[in-house]
Amino acid sequence: MLNLVLFGPPGAGKGTQSEKLILKYNLVHLSTGDLLRSQIAAGTELGLRAKQLMDQGLLVPDEVVIGMIENKLQENQSAAGFIFDGFPRTVPQAEALDQLLAQHNTQITTMVALVVDDEELTRRLLLRGQTSGRPDDQNEELIRRRVKEYNDKTAPVAGYYNQQGKFAAIDGIGNIETIFDHICAEIQQASN
Ligand code: AMP
Repeated sequence: MLNLVLFGPPGAGKGTQSEKLILKYNLVHLSTGDLLRSQIAAGTELGLRAKQLMDQGLLVPDEVVIGMIENKLQENQSAAGFIFDGFPRTVPQAEALDQLLAQHNTQITTMVALVVDDEELTRRLLLRGQTSGRPDDQNEELIRRRVKEYNDKTAPVAGYYNQQGKFAAIDGIGNIETIFDHICAEIQQASN
């Protein structure tokens, strides 16, 4: 089973690369941001509570996203593997993911981090905001808060996987195909 954590700040290209990886490796895509946005669209209580935090560029509580991932793992027991996109975003989320995967007799294969500098992220997200319809992509102050939240709370997750020998950083600026080839090479190495 191939279980990949695709890591990086908002705007690093995780969504774009996920689409390509899913096709190549036949993985189930689990994006906690997408799952939360569908809760908002469905008008659920969870969605309403999450929206208040998302609109401020803040993370939603760990137990909310862990619960969503737990359900999805349960629903997809025959999957060839998973790509985790935007999750885990805190060390407790990473610990919970390890436990959940162990319950399914599997584990994370590797984490691949896309590295993009803060100015390029802001530029990309403002551009995405012109077409994505996402309110959190349309306001520069909010974007900077999301990047700060990433640097404060999410960046330490890289260390968590690095300690397990499951971490690779890849330059996320440049040609989409070249970046994809680099990710595939890392997956190849981690799967051997
Ligand atoms: P994303 O689509 O991954 O950029 O996520 C959009 C927003 O959803 C984030 O700014 C957070 O408010 C929330 N969110 C998504 N995934 C998580 C997570 N794993 N932990 C906490 N909050 C999350």
